[in-house]
Formats: sequence, C-alpha cells, structure tokens
Amino acid sequence: MLTASSRDWSIFQQIFADHWETFQHAHPRYQTPYYTGLVAKMLACGNPEKMGYIEYRCLHCGQGKHLVAMSCKASLCLRCAKVYVDNWVSHVSKMLHEGVIYRHIILTVPAMFRTTFYQNAAVVLSAFMRCGVQCLDDFYSAVKGRALQGGSIVVLHTHGRHGHDHPHRHVLATSGGYDARGGRWEHLQYLPYALLRRKWQWHLLTMLRQTLQTKVIHQLVATCFQKYPDGLVTNVQKGVVPAQAQSVARYVAKYVVSPPIAVRRIDRYDGERVTYHYRSHRTDRMEYETVPVDMFIGRMVQHTMPKGFKRIRYDGIQATTTFTKVKEVIQAALAKVEEVVKGAVKIIARLTYRQRYEQSTGRDPLMCPHCRSEMGVWRIWHPTYGVIHDEGEVIKRGTYASTAQRASP
Ligand SMILES: [Zn+2]
Ligand SMILES: [Zn+2]
Repeated sequence: MLTASSRDWSIFQQIFADHWETFQHAHPRYQTPYYTGLVAKMLACGNPEKMGYIEYRCLHCGQGKHLVAMSCKASLCLRCAKVYVDNWVSHVSKMLHEGVIYRHIILTVPAMFRTTFYQNAAVVLSAFMRCGVQCLDDFYSAVKGRALQGGSIVVLHTHGRHGHDHPHRHVLATSGGYDARGGRWEHLQYLPYALLRRKWQWHLLTMLRQTLQTKVIHQLVATCFQKYPDGLVTNVQKGVVPAQAQSVARYVAKYVVSPPIAVRRIDRYDGERVTYHYRSHRTDRMEYETVPVDMFIGRMVQHTMPKGFKRIRYDGIQATTTFTKVKEVIQAALAKVEEVVKGAVKIIARLTYRQRYEQSTGRDPLMCPHCRSEMGVWRIWHPTYGVIHDEGEVIKRGTYASTAQRASP
C-alpha cells in the first residue's frame, strides 16, 4: 500500500505462501525458528486479524472510518521495506556528526574467499566488521603521520545487488579523524587509494588467518597476497560524498537496502518461475530476470543475518557511547577549520504513518472524507492482548478524554 504496489506485494506473499515450505525443506540452513518466524510475520503483514489494527473514526459526523492494519516492519517484507529503509536512514543520520565530511567507502572480499565466508558466517562476519575499522584508523594515521581516531558506520552486505553471495562492507567514514594530542580535527582532502588497497588487504587477510587458523586458510591467504600484489579492491566514491544538501545516510541506503527493495516490480509469476526487474547499480540500467521460484526465494532471504547479528556497527567516534562525549569536542575542533564546517550532514526525521501515507497517496488518511474533520482513534486491537483501546467504551463511561489521538501503527 505504501511502497510496492499492493499487486506486487501480494504476489510476493503468494510466492512465499506457495513455496516457502518446500524451499525450507530443500535448504536446511533455513530450518530455524528465526526464518520460520520471519516468513510467518511477513505473510501476516497487513492482515488486521493476524497483526492487529487501529481503527479511526470521525467523531464529528460519525461517518468516516479508516482501518490501519499493523505492519510487520521486517526487511524481508516488500510492503515494509521502504519504511524499514526510511527508519534506517533516520536512525543513521542522527548518528552522524554535523559538519564532518563523510566518505562512502566499499571494502570488498575477493571471490576466492566467498566459500570461507559462507561456511563460517557466524565467526567470520563479526571479525570482518571489526577489521575494517582498524584498517581505516591505521590508514588515516599513516597518511597524517600521527595517531588519528576517525569514526565509521559500517554496514555489512553479504550479497551483491544481483543476489549472489558477495560479502563486502559499506563504510560511511569520516574523512579524517580527531587528533587527541593536538586537540584538532584533521580533515583529509585527498585519500591515497593505492595505500588503502594494500592496508585493506593486510587487515582482511590477517583477520582471516587469525580467526580461522586452518591450513586451507593459510594457503588461501598466501595465494591472495601473490595474486594481488597491489592490494584489494576498495571503492571510494570520488569527491565529497554526497551532494552536501543531501543526507549521506540516504545516499548509502541506496546501496545497502535489502533485496526486496531492489525488486522494482514482479512482472510475472506462473507458480514455478518469477520474472522481475530491478535497477542495477553497476550498469545503472533496468535489468530483467526470470528465475525459478526456489532461486527467487533464496535471493530474497539470504541477506537476512544470523539471529542477533548486528548488520550495522558504529565505531570510533561514531560509537554510541562516545558519540555524545566527543560531539562537543569535535564541534569545537571543526569551528577552527572553517571550510569543513559548511554543509555536510542533514538530519532526517522519522516519518509517521500519516506522513508516509500522504506522501505516497497524496491524501491525508486521517481526514474524514465526508466532513473533512480530523478522525480520532476509535479502537485498537492486538491479536495477543485483545482490545487495547475502545473509545466507545470510554465515551459510555463518561470519562471521555481522548489520549490515543497520536497512536500510530
Ligand atoms: Zn510487512
Ligand atoms: Zn466526518
């Protein structure tokens, strides 16, 4: 209703309703309560009987009614994916330091290690998240010749846009860092990419060798050093990223959102095969694909992380505990460096259900279509807790004082 057209969304649900069990049966990796729950939630999304609802009514003319079914808010859900991303963006942008220039850096893993990542996801992924941060601090300090602490927000991506396993990390990193001794913020205008590539290779391979400690890994690591004497691929978006008026978080979200968002449209589903299209970031063109339903489901679920795994990590001056503490120090340091202070980060506020609805339909969902007054919450029902709020009862009891006006699904 709010993102993907309801047609796409219901086809998406249909595909899972038809084939999820068979898929799970064929892929033991997904036979966990976590995945079972995730899919069940997505299938129930938007169903008022299963998810609960908020009913609005016009208390002026008594005619207007609007039912809002609770949504699942899962990244797997085609209906909720946009909300999920919007909330992500709002959350991340609150964690950025105003005035600091950030860069979007992509650190990749060579294809030769894909199996390693796939098979050891549980241990390797967290270590993988950590080693990128060490790499960047090491890199910045090497460039400036003195110890700098930068900050980064790391988002792990285990698949390419296309859906194939392709672990890489998107880093939103400060372009520079705080020099604690000098009490200065050091901005790095130019990043020597060749050095970054080698640093990244060293940090990644050392991490793999230390985390897994097997003969196979030692050999792979040795091969990798030989095969790539100039280091590994690191993409740094050139220049100051992004256009300063925009939010960096919004910009990065374009690259890191979950696959259901990549599905622009499901063109066809005949029970066995799915045809869909998406915009490829590599070619910047619309790509069309027809795949067996099993593969489609695989592509949609494989990005979901092992339970409890944090897909996003805040490090250095971005870490939640140090953020408030260093905020003032950084602002003061930045004030001395005029040109860096301008523009940079824009904070994006979280949208309410009402704003999102209005954005996508151009209509205020809570305005009575009959008398144009604002409707109020009439009833809130939850599948586990039953009726949570009943305005009719409140009015009958004569204790009318609407406190639930601002509830949102
Ligand atoms: Zn949903
Ligand atoms: Zn009305």
